[in-house]
Amino acid sequence: MEKHVETIFSLDMPYRERMKVVRSVYRGQGGPRVAVVSGIHGDELEGLYLCHRIAAWLDWLAANHPQSLLGTIELYPGLNPLGLDTLARTVPPYGVDLNRTFPGHAGGVMPQRIADCAMRALAGCALVVDVHASNIYLREIPQVRINHLFADSLLPLAENMNVDVIWLHGAVTVLEASIAHSLNAQDVPALVVEMGVGMRLTPEYTEQLLAGLLNTWQQLGVLAADLELPAVQRRPRLAHEDNVYYLNAATSGLFVPNVAHWMEVRKDGLLGRIVSPLEGQTLAEVRSPVDGVLFTLREYPLVYEGSLMARVMAHA
Ligand SMILES: [Zn+2]
Repeated sequence: MEKHVETIFSLDMPYRERMKVVRSVYRGQGGPRVAVVSGIHGDELEGLYLCHRIAAWLDWLAANHPQSLLGTIELYPGLNPLGLDTLARTVPPYGVDLNRTFPGHAGGVMPQRIADCAMRALAGCALVVDVHASNIYLREIPQVRINHLFADSLLPLAENMNVDVIWLHGAVTVLEASIAHSLNAQDVPALVVEMGVGMRLTPEYTEQLLAGLLNTWQQLGVLAADLELPAVQRRPRLAHEDNVYYLNAATSGLFVPNVAHWMEVRKDGLLGRIVSPLEGQTLAEVRSPVDGVLFTLREYPLVYEGSLMARVMAHA
């Protein structure tokens, strides 16, 4: 097994610094290549910790079963280094969402150039997993999001990822200009994972996804079939347009939940209240529209009328 760190993109900064996007490459015996990408949004850190845990596991593998890495594993922990450095979701100083910039442009401005370099670097991969950590407002249970267009080829890969939910949809993180959509459109299978919350780490989710990734890589022939791996324990529930309910704030105030994330909820059960910071009354009660499970829960208390507070997946 061979290991090295290399730069896939660099750009001179105005005051002589040099900005770099780097990857760690663990090369085995010529089998398929797979990659984990994270840090596209500079306020999301769960994927960076996942890359660390994969790297630590690969160090263990190199010491104990070096012949068991059949393919190549590449880690891209921070595609948006300036955003990560400055706690900005978008790419400074442009204010551009890097995940709305793909497939990019080699002669464009910096975010377009990063996107273009990432697309070139990831070409030919048997699987790319793009790890997101929601945002600073919402906490998400580990889930894979798949666009309807690519469901047939991606669902079999997602099912072994040890996530709690597979969400089939056509919106937001699986939009056309995202890295995952652009890769899939170029026949590079790419899954979007959302888990945890922005600016935080959730180590139990990391371990859960690590087990899923290792098993999926074994299924693809990147890891030897006889290598013993942490078990896949989750059977993902399938979310789609007809069973996901959005709970938006009826009024502005402080959202105070009285439920825990990933809890079973009953129709009309009280999930929380919106209260006024100025006065003693409750402004609105938040109740579940259906029997189901709470798979998104607001982490950041301040809400404006229309803010998303929770998503409930109805039981079949
Ligand atoms: Zn993100």
